[in-house]
Amino acid sequence: MKFSTRAIHVGQGPDPATGSTIPPIHLSTTYTQAAPGEHKGYEYSRSQNPTRKALEQCLASLEEGEDCAAFSSGLAATTTVFQALEPGDGVVGGHDLYGGTFRLLERVFKRWGLEVAFAADASPKAHERAIAALRRPRLLWLETPTNPLLDIVDIPTLVQLAKAHSMIVAVDNTFATPYLQKPLGLGADLVIHSTTKYLGGHSDVVGGAVIARKKETMEPIRFLQNAAGGVPSPIDCYLLLRGLKTLAVRMDRHCANALQLASILTKNRGITKVLYPGLPEHSGFEIASTQMSGFGGMISLQLEGDAARTRRFCSRLKVFSLAESLGGVESLCCHPATMTHASIPKDLREARGITETLVRLSVGIEDVEDLIADIEQALRDE
Ligand SMILES: *Cc1c(COP(=O)(O)O)cnc(C)c1O
Repeated sequence: MKFSTRAIHVGQGPDPATGSTIPPIHLSTTYTQAAPGEHKGYEYSRSQNPTRKALEQCLASLEEGEDCAAFSSGLAATTTVFQALEPGDGVVGGHDLYGGTFRLLERVFKRWGLEVAFAADASPKAHERAIAALRRPRLLWLETPTNPLLDIVDIPTLVQLAKAHSMIVAVDNTFATPYLQKPLGLGADLVIHSTTKYLGGHSDVVGGAVIARKKETMEPIRFLQNAAGGVPSPIDCYLLLRGLKTLAVRMDRHCANALQLASILTKNRGITKVLYPGLPEHSGFEIASTQMSGFGGMISLQLEGDAARTRRFCSRLKVFSLAESLGGVESLCCHPATMTHASIPKDLREARGITETLVRLSVGIEDVEDLIADIEQALRDE
């Protein structure tokens, strides 16, 4: 079966008890046994839950992995992957990771004995240097496109590099989704999602997931899902299953709207740079064209003028909401320097290109004419 069919059907056959077409939300925390140890595979809902199982089967299918474990948030999923390592193991992180992942490594897992090094930029050389800085490199953690600069990281090349060092490769595929990019097919071992974003798609559920190419790689993570307990609620699993059904049509519109908006904004004199991997002048365009089937719905803009003008732009938007997060049907605008990336020290932030005049757009699926008009009116300085 192809992608959209799997998004709608996998894990979601008619309920055997009632025939209900849509999977029930199984709220029961416990399951009645016929005799001690004699049950239908469900004992206690932290350990197993039918609604969660449906979600896990669907996500495994969409990423083309053998197994999936769902979690209560993207960071709970990430935490569990790091917990599966041993003290003294080394983690190499990409150069422009999600802030929460950076914080988790720096402020939590270093204390618990993981060694951590970050690549200085997106190049394989920079990743090689970070690997060389570790005594026992075990895990390479990548994100592409990156946040908020939308750099593209070459997954197959970095997989090759990691394999030469016997490392596991994990890709946070939150920005691209499996509809546009399948890291497991490119050789990665694990995919991580904040399902809060495009997979849920309606800004009304926080969740996460880990998908493994091979069942064996999932074993320690599956153990920890129950042993450490960061599981999602059955209602959240249901909301995610509902969101996944429209993932393909939503992503098509996100991509089309973002490409049209990005192309038009390159001609606007109020903007000095449009960062979007679907523009041929973007440094990652060639690699994105080979490892992605579309360029996604995220755009970042460097605005002309100073911080005050950027603040006025953000406040003047009417269709775009000034809000954190991304991936919902509604368009959002974020000012990374004061919002999502405020915890990074200013000099480090500016050196990375996250300046006071950078804004990040999560382009929604509204009519693109309204989105273009909204940005243009907010740029007009009267
Ligand atoms: C939001 C996000 C996360 C964290 O997920 P939560 O669901 O907020 O815990 C991780 N990675 C990326 C790329 C994200 O955008």
